[in-house]
Amino acid sequence: MSERKAVKVSGQKKLTPFQAVNGYLEQAFDFLGYEQSFRRLLKDAWREIKVQVPLRKDNGELEIFEGYRVQHNAARGPYKGGIRYHPETDLEDVRALASLMSWKTALVDIPFGGAKGGVTCEPKDLSPRELQVLTRSYINNIGAAIGPYNDIPAPDVGTNAQVMAWIMDEYSIRYGHSPAVVTGKPVALGGVKEREEATGRGVSLIAEMVCEDLKLSLSKASCAVQGFGNVGSHAARLLWERGAKITAVSNKDGGLLNPKGIDIGDLLQHISQKGDFTGYSRAEKITNKELLETKCDILVPAALGGVFDAATAARVKTRVILEAANGPTFPDADAVFEENGILVVPDVLANSGGVIVSYFEWVQNIQQYSWEKYHCNVELKKILSKAYQEVKKTSVRHKLSYRTSSFVIGVSRVAEAERLRGT
Ligand code: NAD
Repeated sequence: MSERKAVKVSGQKKLTPFQAVNGYLEQAFDFLGYEQSFRRLLKDAWREIKVQVPLRKDNGELEIFEGYRVQHNAARGPYKGGIRYHPETDLEDVRALASLMSWKTALVDIPFGGAKGGVTCEPKDLSPRELQVLTRSYINNIGAAIGPYNDIPAPDVGTNAQVMAWIMDEYSIRYGHSPAVVTGKPVALGGVKEREEATGRGVSLIAEMVCEDLKLSLSKASCAVQGFGNVGSHAARLLWERGAKITAVSNKDGGLLNPKGIDIGDLLQHISQKGDFTGYSRAEKITNKELLETKCDILVPAALGGVFDAATAARVKTRVILEAANGPTFPDADAVFEENGILVVPDVLANSGGVIVSYFEWVQNIQQYSWEKYHCNVELKKILSKAYQEVKKTSVRHKLSYRTSSFVIGVSRVAEAERLRGT
């Protein structure tokens, strides 16, 4: 598969995901006054690995997939970042996601760098055996580059705790028992119970902080959530449990709208019986485009990246955007949101709950000591609140958006580590 090219949309050049991240980085570099060579050092990945992922399918045919691991920066600690299984994942996408991880881990001040991995495949088309063989094949080919003190993968779109368990097992066969090589594992293998909902919990905690600042009661706020997978469904449920009115939700096949609020507990029960939204009668059907244009207080993109360009952004009618997904907003859309007075809490802050709890899992695996159950969520809130306050302070002091403030904080921490190490 060839790398993704920048495409033209309505006469305007649309950026690739990596170009979009670099656009944001340049804003932070300009503010920080960094020289060109140092900018390049921070923008480009330290190492990019592209591997074949051969799979003998159940029907006997051999299919070759493409896999990637991009290790962006490790000045502050081992590389850290999820693994995505998706048909549209490519090297350019993974590069962007790896870079975002470096700024995210630095912003929330946990001792990791940034990385991301992916295999270009549709996991839903694979049997459980095929998925396991594909995962082992991928890990075999990148195994020399990962490790508990080198690079620690985690779940992302299309992967889950079971996939993490296979990764741990495959790595451990070669290198000895290594639960700390991957986070987001099942609890029985050293995972932490709180990890699965951690990203969604982080989104709901940030929602509380933003609402307090805007003097908007979360229990009176209306929210629309795009994407109802791991992150979106937990974010919607936790917001709903805090009293927010979830007026719209969606997945890749379309969405549901109920201006009076969707009973998320009831919807989750429906999904556990029917598998998806099909046949849910207590909300009307809408398209994903309609969801993004729904009038609400808080809009939560929690699906894939590249959702908002300038044209879509102009139709958004919300007060706050909480970027649960990675890279949902192109820079031209960011400018439109700013112009329209919409507060955007960027991905590197809004969805950092996942990597924070992954850090707690890694610490416990390294120490071979399990924390008390309540510890994780208390620590998560502490770290998130500190990062949120720092972003707010930087934003007010320097009149910067929350996104540029987040990048300025993250970038300056990575830059300091690079310089202290002698770069
Ligand atoms: P997932 O695979 O569990 O869920 C993805 C969801 O998005 C599914 O409901 C899918 O139907 C939906 N979707 C896909 N295309 C869509 C479209 N065009 N419109 C509406 N919905 C669509 O993935 P996830 O783990 O929930 O990740 C979602 C986002 O959150 C990704 O951007 C990911 O990088 C980011 N993220 C995930 C984690 C994590 O811990 N899993 C952490 C940080 C950030």
